[in-house]
Amino acid sequence: MKYDVIVCGAGPAGSTCGRLLARRGVKVLILDKAGFPRYKPCGGGLTGKALGELEPGWERLNEDSTREVIFYHRQKKPISITYRQPVIQMVNRDKLDTWLLEQAAAAGATVREGCRVTAVAETATGVTVSGEDGSIYHGEFLVGADGARSLVRRSLPFNTAMAAGVTLECEMPVKEGVLALFRGRVHLSYGGIPAGYGWIFPKGDHLSVGIGSFTRRVKGLKGYFYDFCRGLGLEVPEGIRCRGAVIPAAGGRGGIFHTGRAVLAGDAAGLVDPFSGEGIYYALRSGRLAAEAILAVMSGREDLESYTRKINDEITPSFSYAWRIARVVYALTPVVHRLVTANPEVARRLVAVLFGGDTYEDLWRYLVERYAIFRLARQ
Ligand SMILES: Cc1cc2nc3c(=O)[nH]c(=O)nc-3n(C[C@H](O)[C@H](O)[C@H](O)COP(=O)(O)OP(=O)(O)OC[C@H]3O[C@@H](n4cnc5c(N)ncnc54)[C@H](O)[C@@H]3O)c2cc1C
Repeated sequence: MKYDVIVCGAGPAGSTCGRLLARRGVKVLILDKAGFPRYKPCGGGLTGKALGELEPGWERLNEDSTREVIFYHRQKKPISITYRQPVIQMVNRDKLDTWLLEQAAAAGATVREGCRVTAVAETATGVTVSGEDGSIYHGEFLVGADGARSLVRRSLPFNTAMAAGVTLECEMPVKEGVLALFRGRVHLSYGGIPAGYGWIFPKGDHLSVGIGSFTRRVKGLKGYFYDFCRGLGLEVPEGIRCRGAVIPAAGGRGGIFHTGRAVLAGDAAGLVDPFSGEGIYYALRSGRLAAEAILAVMSGREDLESYTRKINDEITPSFSYAWRIARVVYALTPVVHRLVTANPEVARRLVAVLFGGDTYEDLWRYLVERYAIFRLARQ
């Protein structure tokens, strides 16, 4: 059978793109190697921007609403910022992603779970996608939404800068008394791992605990993870499974996210905030932009280059400011923490960027005007 659009990957990027296309009557096939619900290493923190991309119904997935953000330097010297309204909502990724995929199927997309894509090819007239089980699918367009290690990205002539970081994350069961201490609060600790941070996100019956570094050069993640947990009073349960994952933060250098008949969305395109690691919003947003671009091509109004233009205009410029801030903060965490302690307005502004509607460009200008260390990182 021939499809109008084949979407490889049913994470937030692929399911969003598939849902929006199917709703417009496009014949869509979504392929994923996993069966849903599937585990995805992720903190599951949803910012206001991400919520703005979701349809009503996400509320029943909500595990915690966070009104307090606590920053640490090496698990010490906490700086707490509290809000009247929740600044970040917590979900479990298995549930969020299953819900998004169900929405795509309800809109009319055909979904094949347990289908690992092993090859993709593009000609002037269409795309061909081969599955591990010998299946072959033909389509007019292809969406590469297959995550950080995207096969689609590696198979077709895109041009994306792909620096990647590493993470170690686990879903930690804790006693109710301990859980209660962490409810409604996000803990973020910088300085304990090179170029990165550790986090504790509260969920309904467990904690999402992890550490990540925006450089691959860091060795011994497990040691950093245990130090982080110990420092914040968490005992890591014997035999608990921690999972490593890659964060494909391309650092705001822009790129070419389309070919003649294919586009990349979400992690496959490296669309992850290089300061915070936020990626769900960018997956949802680029999934939407990919659907809009394909619809425009199908109606003869544009070519797929419009997708690359949109990503480079709307998303990558803010990453470039995030990356500049990250370079200073992660290189000089003790100095930055002292500076934030002396002027909590910096932390407040940072939270407004991370979880609210302010931009990295605003924050960058604020920092450069006041602090010489940020002027050093000017490009
Ligand atoms: C430890 C960690 C914590 C994070 N915490 C947060 C957070 O709190 N908030 C936030 O906003 N972001 C967070 N992120 C980032 C976020 O998880 C990603 O940016 C987001 O999942 C990207 O969505 P996606 O749809 O592009 O890709 P994914 O969610 O990775 O989905 C890709 C899909 O493609 C499928 N796939 C891959 N290869 C193939 C193949 N060959 N054939 C078929 N299917 C394939 C996979 O099975 C998967 O279902 C975190 C990331 C990590 C690693």
